[in-house]
Amino acid sequence: MTAHIVLFGPPAAGKGTQAKRVAAATGMVPTSTGDMLRAAVAENTPLGQKAAGIMRAGNLVDDAIIMGIINDHLVLGDAPDGALFDGFPRTVAQAEGLDSLLKERGEEVSKVVNIVVPDEILLSRVESRIAETPVAERRSDDSSEALEVRLVAYHEQTVPVMAYYRSQGKLVDVDGTALIDTVTQSILVHLSE
Ligand code: ADP
Repeated sequence: MTAHIVLFGPPAAGKGTQAKRVAAATGMVPTSTGDMLRAAVAENTPLGQKAAGIMRAGNLVDDAIIMGIINDHLVLGDAPDGALFDGFPRTVAQAEGLDSLLKERGEEVSKVVNIVVPDEILLSRVESRIAETPVAERRSDDSSEALEVRLVAYHEQTVPVMAYYRSQGKLVDVDGTALIDTVTQSILVHLSE
């Protein structure tokens, strides 16, 4: 059966970086709802116009919109080695939506890799990313204010997703404070188990 993987963790944990590295190593198809939303904002589509302000403030976009973009963009037939989800699912409703979408195909999420990074390290990472990135290249939500909102959304709406997958025996933890390469290797070891 095709194995689909969720990369889970707080904002700025390194999910996007690890998704690219793990996808390159495994042939899995990286699937980032954050990237899909930023593309919609850049193209100024109706969805992008709705999402832009919500993202800039650091809040979560509505579940219905997210399930809509997943339905529109996820081509599971093109992912024989599985999809690698990054930044999705972020609410229990999204996790249930993903389960039913996969179930229709006789597929499922096989593992959820939780990249663990304490809040204070996340804050200092974002502050140095802001300092090192030219203004024109910054993400609209790369600010300490938006990060605080993103962390609240993470703890209130996203952390419950962990219990959802833990109860299914699918959750594994990796130390997200280790070197980038070490994190990638730990993820790959978990995926091969
Ligand atoms: P990060 O992991 O650094 O928070 P993302 O690129 O995953 O960054 O997400 C950026 C923003 O896009 C989020 O703060 C949120 O506004 C929106 N977003 C992305 N994915 C989702 C999702 N699955 N559900 C709701 N909002 C989302």
